[in-house]
Amino acid sequence: MIDTLIRNNMAWARARMRADPQLLMRFSEQQATEYLRKSCSDSRVPANEVVGLDSGEMFVHRNMENLAPSRDINFLSVIQYPLKVLKVRHIIVCRHYGCHGVCAALDSNRRGLIDYWLQLLADLAHRCAERFDAITDFKTKINATCQQNMRAQGEYVGRNRFIIDAWCQWQTLDIHGWIYSVRDGLIRNFDLTAEKTMDVETFARRSWCPDG
Ligand SMILES: [Zn+2]
Repeated sequence: MIDTLIRNNMAWARARMRADPQLLMRFSEQQATEYLRKSCSDSRVPANEVVGLDSGEMFVHRNMENLAPSRDINFLSVIQYPLKVLKVRHIIVCRHYGCHGVCAALDSNRRGLIDYWLQLLADLAHRCAERFDAITDFKTKINATCQQNMRAQGEYVGRNRFIIDAWCQWQTLDIHGWIYSVRDGLIRNFDLTAEKTMDVETFARRSWCPDG
């Protein structure tokens, strides 16, 4: 079965070369993008395709549950490099509805090592518990927690030192909060954009918006 993937790759590369013989050559020489997208590792959540961008047009960071731990060297590097070197103008924090990691954070089952990673999400869910107590439908509660997680991660990104430094140096940089639905393939834009340090507060303050 794995050979199929290699054959698919050859077909893909040939098609790309036919469509634009210079494209891959350009990619090999430079990376130029205005966008950094931060999202979940979930295989059902594509990155550049769903917003009509080609490969090479979006820098992507993915981890399980789309977390932004302040001491995670991977996350910090993925923030610093595109900010300092590529000079991205937009950071998109894109969560998705129906996230299995959120389900796992909300139940009390033990899963081993991943519980330590999910702890960040479980803590957030715990802080929201009272607010979401009235939501009796479990799927809706998961989606509410997904939204809250998007806002929290957007806030964490906005409080990152590299971001604050960029704003202090008048670098044009917007942080956006989105939610993608695996059910209909559509992105919900909650009109959450931070263009400066003061705007970051809005990420955390917004209340749960029933949708999806
Ligand atoms: Zn997920």
